Amino acid sequence: MIARPRSLWEALWRHRGCRACGGYPISPSCLAQGLEMIPPDACPRCAQRRAGGRCESLGCRRGWLRIGKTHVALGYNRGDTQRLLLAAKDAAQPGAITLLGRLLAGFLLRHGGLGSYDVILPVPFHPRCLRGRPVHPLTAIYLDAAPALRPVLPVDDLDPPFLVQARAVRALRGRREEDRWRAVRGAFALGFATRMLRGARVAVIDDVMTTGATLNECARVLCETGGAASVDAVVLVRQPWFRDARRESRVRCARVI
Ligand SMILES: [Zn+2]
Ligand SMILES: [Zn+2]
Repeated sequence: MIARPRSLWEALWRHRGCRACGGYPISPSCLAQGLEMIPPDACPRCAQRRAGGRCESLGCRRGWLRIGKTHVALGYNRGDTQRLLLAAKDAAQPGAITLLGRLLAGFLLRHGGLGSYDVILPVPFHPRCLRGRPVHPLTAIYLDAAPALRPVLPVDDLDPPFLVQARAVRALRGRREEDRWRAVRGAFALGFATRMLRGARVAVIDDVMTTGATLNECARVLCETGGAASVDAVVLVRQPWFRDARRESRVRCARVI
């Protein structure tokens, strides 16, 4: 059982009735002091910190990244934010899933630039990725947020989904950056033959961007098979650069277990 991130969790529940947010959505900007937001000088394409003016992500260094821009709702994957994500992701705790759905809705509705997309859809999952959980966390978060988003934004109703995961991908945690890029190659496909994506500006949602390989593979399929004009990413959190992340994961294990 993953412990609840008490301070952020409590701040979120206390946030009921905020006039700026409305009923269901919670704008991350209302909780900014509890989050480690992405600094303005981070890489605009993958939201990673830059060293000496350069993005250190493999996808950016090698020119593989097809994502035009990455929007990050809750900042870097650390501290209470990371624990809230783990509660949703590893333990599929319904409370954590709902809170993240409300934060996702709050971010998408308050972010001025997202109205220009033609389609917004989540990274799909393969049934084998459920790994004994009752729901797929990202899909559950997305479906929780969708009713609040649908009147305003072109969210995919997933019936049928534009994008599917055609084969399972072995757990990517702890794998080298290059291996993660290789592992997801060919894992996604269009859900059905359609011309609706031709020339479209698409935004793909994921919970965590680690190397960007998964989102990038989705972008590749949407552009090469679907004919999308551009694909951007919306993620709840960005994993900090790998060298930092290894240190972080040791801290996380010490606290969670
Ligand atoms: Zn608020
Ligand atoms: Zn980058």
